[in-house]
Amino acid sequence: MKLYNTLSRTTEDFKPLSPPKVTMYACGPTVYDDTHIGHMRKYAGDDMLRRTLSLFGYDVNHVMNITDVGHLTDDGDAGEDKLEKGAAKSGQTVWEIADHYTKRFLDTMSAVNVLPATHLTKATDHIAEMIALNEKLSANGFTYETDQALYFDTSKDAEYGKLSGQKLSEKETGVRDDVVVDTDKKNPADFVLWFKRVGKFADHAMHWPSPWGDGFPGWHIECSAMSMQYLGETIDIHTGGVDHIPVHHENEIAQSECATGHPFVKYWVHYAFLQVDGEKMSKSKQNGYTIDDIREKNINPLALRLLFMQTHYRKPLNFTWESAQGAQTSFDRLHAFAVLHHDITIDTVAPSEQYLDSFKEALGDDLNTAKALAVVWQLLGDKTVPIEQKKKTLFVFDEVLGLDLKKIEPIVIPEHVTTLLKERSEARAQKNWQVSDQLRTEIEKSGFTVIDTEDGSIAQKI
Ligand code: AMP
Ligand code: ZN
Repeated sequence: MKLYNTLSRTTEDFKPLSPPKVTMYACGPTVYDDTHIGHMRKYAGDDMLRRTLSLFGYDVNHVMNITDVGHLTDDGDAGEDKLEKGAAKSGQTVWEIADHYTKRFLDTMSAVNVLPATHLTKATDHIAEMIALNEKLSANGFTYETDQALYFDTSKDAEYGKLSGQKLSEKETGVRDDVVVDTDKKNPADFVLWFKRVGKFADHAMHWPSPWGDGFPGWHIECSAMSMQYLGETIDIHTGGVDHIPVHHENEIAQSECATGHPFVKYWVHYAFLQVDGEKMSKSKQNGYTIDDIREKNINPLALRLLFMQTHYRKPLNFTWESAQGAQTSFDRLHAFAVLHHDITIDTVAPSEQYLDSFKEALGDDLNTAKALAVVWQLLGDKTVPIEQKKKTLFVFDEVLGLDLKKIEPIVIPEHVTTLLKERSEARAQKNWQVSDQLRTEIEKSGFTVIDTEDGSIAQKI
């Protein structure tokens, strides 16, 4: 299996540290606002990667964090803690906000059939581990303290910037957590490991005692601390959106490697954005559709999963309702196949080796999901594959596609609709389109719609 590694900027043979085990850390959401479908692209991507690794025989330990403290808004928002800001907006406490949006996030993920992480870890449950890591960094001489915060001193780390390739001199100031206007800060790229509860943060609701005074952790340290705690000092895969490359992940690498003296991550995987009108879909831009918007437009959340798979994870994907509708039509086709062949048992049937090989070849090529889907459509249209084997192969594919085809149950259709459907199929076989259209109208009058596939037609409730 080959995987693109942001660190080496090349597609590499995937060789985990201790096969068949794979350790994978996925940067999780900051739970101050609702989950949008841009997040879904990233986490469905993690899920595709994890399921592909399983298809290739690996045993994946997948850790994902929930950021519920320390993640500050960028320059434009003048550097508030996102959670505190969300709480102020809604009149709830930060803890209530975190609980509410964590639940919304997890419900959304389950709607797109993202497998739950092996360990779901909350930042606020790991303050002690973050403090310990900061202490290690201080003991190793990589930190300094001001009246406002404990900083990581990037000038002490000769390798700082290796992920993004940015030189320290080119580093932008005022990025994400670098918002405490602190005149004692030494270098623009230095980042906060611990915020003191002083100045603008004097009333910060979440705070803990520490060797640097009462306060709260910076955002980046949480991922290093939790990754090490659950997966060890060096792991196989770490994922995030491309926005994490220049700051969050760069900082994670610096603080982890300067603390342990070992490489932090073997393969860095980054997902391109889901866009709207050519711009990143984001909470702050208020252009984010949620799972509710998707359902309101009668798009199955799993059709969205299919939509994501049509584009390679490293390419931006511009979301439109037309493309979502197109994915829904494709999903209906697969749905119809599962309904039409519901009664065929496949327990003792072997999948088509030829198709399985092509499917694996596509996914093994840096997760070429679009190519893997092409294999699916080719299989479906291949009249030389016996139907039992076709179904079995498709259901094996679905272990990775995650469209839950196994769970699809035919709906109960009134007898007269079944008769109309049969008559319509006969009319279609005779290419009698006029009668076929009339029969469709009749079926629709009974509250059903028709989905046509090469294998036949099914009726669904409108
Ligand atoms: P956040 O909660 O904003 O920190 O985002 C959580 C994860 O979702 C990060 O890895 C982001 O890079 C990713 N993400 C946020 N917005 C998008 C988007 N529009 N498309 C793809 N990934 C996104
Ligand atoms: Zn992270």
